[in-house]
Amino acid sequence: MKHLKVYDFIFIGAGASALMGASNLSKKYKILLIDANAKIGQKILISGGGKCNVVNEQISSQDYLGDEEFLKPLFENYSSNDILNFFNGIEFEKRKGGKYFTKHGAKLIVDFFAKKTKHYEFALNQKVIRVEKNDDLFSVFTDKNSFICKRLVVASGGLSYPKLNSSDIGYKIAENFGLKVTKTNPALVGLSLQKEQFWLKELSGVSVRAKVSVGSKTFYDDILFSHRGISGLAILNASLFWQKGDMVLDFLPDKNINSYLKDKNKQITSQLPLPKRFIKSFLANLNLEDKPLKKLTTNKLLKLQTIHNYTFAPAGYFGYTKAEVTKGGVSTTEIDSQTYECKHVKNLYFIGEVLDITGRLGGYNFYFAFSSALKMSENVEK
Ligand SMILES: Cc1cc2nc3c(=O)[nH]c(=O)nc-3n(C[C@H](O)[C@H](O)[C@H](O)COP(=O)(O)OP(=O)(O)OC[C@H]3O[C@@H](n4cnc5c(N)ncnc54)[C@H](O)[C@@H]3O)c2cc1C
Repeated sequence: MKHLKVYDFIFIGAGASALMGASNLSKKYKILLIDANAKIGQKILISGGGKCNVVNEQISSQDYLGDEEFLKPLFENYSSNDILNFFNGIEFEKRKGGKYFTKHGAKLIVDFFAKKTKHYEFALNQKVIRVEKNDDLFSVFTDKNSFICKRLVVASGGLSYPKLNSSDIGYKIAENFGLKVTKTNPALVGLSLQKEQFWLKELSGVSVRAKVSVGSKTFYDDILFSHRGISGLAILNASLFWQKGDMVLDFLPDKNINSYLKDKNKQITSQLPLPKRFIKSFLANLNLEDKPLKKLTTNKLLKLQTIHNYTFAPAGYFGYTKAEVTKGGVSTTEIDSQTYECKHVKNLYFIGEVLDITGRLGGYNFYFAFSSALKMSENVEK
């Protein structure tokens, strides 16, 4: 009978979190990384427009959807500088909003990891389909092979970007071990609209700076109208916190509309600092004509205040093909926040996006992927 090699660690995934976890483990371990893609770090390569927004200068629980207490040990242990310093030799540039991008391209991050993990084994181009635990060992079955390990790290990410071979394997493994998985949804994604808001779709290609409020969260940034619905940075961030229900848009977030409407003889479109196409559609939607102000009744003028609180319920998300991340996932109640090991399944770990922690735009998702991997790997070295 053929004896299978027993690895000290198998990582399911060779993406951001797995590469960081494996890079940070000592060379004494026999480690295997399995990925459905033919090459490692595929999402890193396309991230941040090819420049990879590695981390943000400011990080707090406010930037995440998920368990605040669970995140605390990461914030206490890893600053954004710690993450940047890990990539010794790679140059970064700080952009608006404290976002750190590589200066010379995301490939440098992948090359860095390739070097750090060169003494480990990779099983690429194969999909993990099932995992079993017998006594103290895990058996990992792919569509091509089977492997055995003492410790299994699930770093399989979420469901977004299926063209990069994303899968639900992490959630399936969790469920098979009896762990709770919080309902998943696409996030950092555009939103589709109900019939009443189709007038926004007709503005396809127009963008405005606005304030978007969902629950207690507020985002000031661009909204982009498209034939599918609404997107742009403000909407992508809002999609993280939106759950079926209302969203409020303020299209003139800096000042009250009355402070612009000074000239009674001029039409509304010529007085507001917004694209004319947008104002015309906005007025038509309120059944208002673009007349000189003096020709509008007080009631009609009052209606204009809607520009500060246009409230509606989006129909849904654009979907996983467009989403940067997946919200929901393996419940953090099942995981020890100091070790990333499952509380009830010894030697089984979950790191990165597969967990029910999701960051907003700005480097927060790589921060979580990298820092959760560091925490896991540093702890097993103790
Ligand atoms: C277009 C885009 C741009 C982004 N830009 C940024 C950015 O600039 N900054 C930022 O912070 N975040 C960004 N993100 C989000 C960030 O890429 C992810 O949050 C991060 O990669 C998560 O790391 P991870 O290791 O958990 O998962 P991933 O990096 O997704 O890695 C998971 C790996 O598991 C593999 N896998 C899945 N299922 C199986 C299976 N059944 N068998 C074998 N292998 C499997 C996948 O092929 C994948 O390689 C971006 C995402 C996208 C889609």
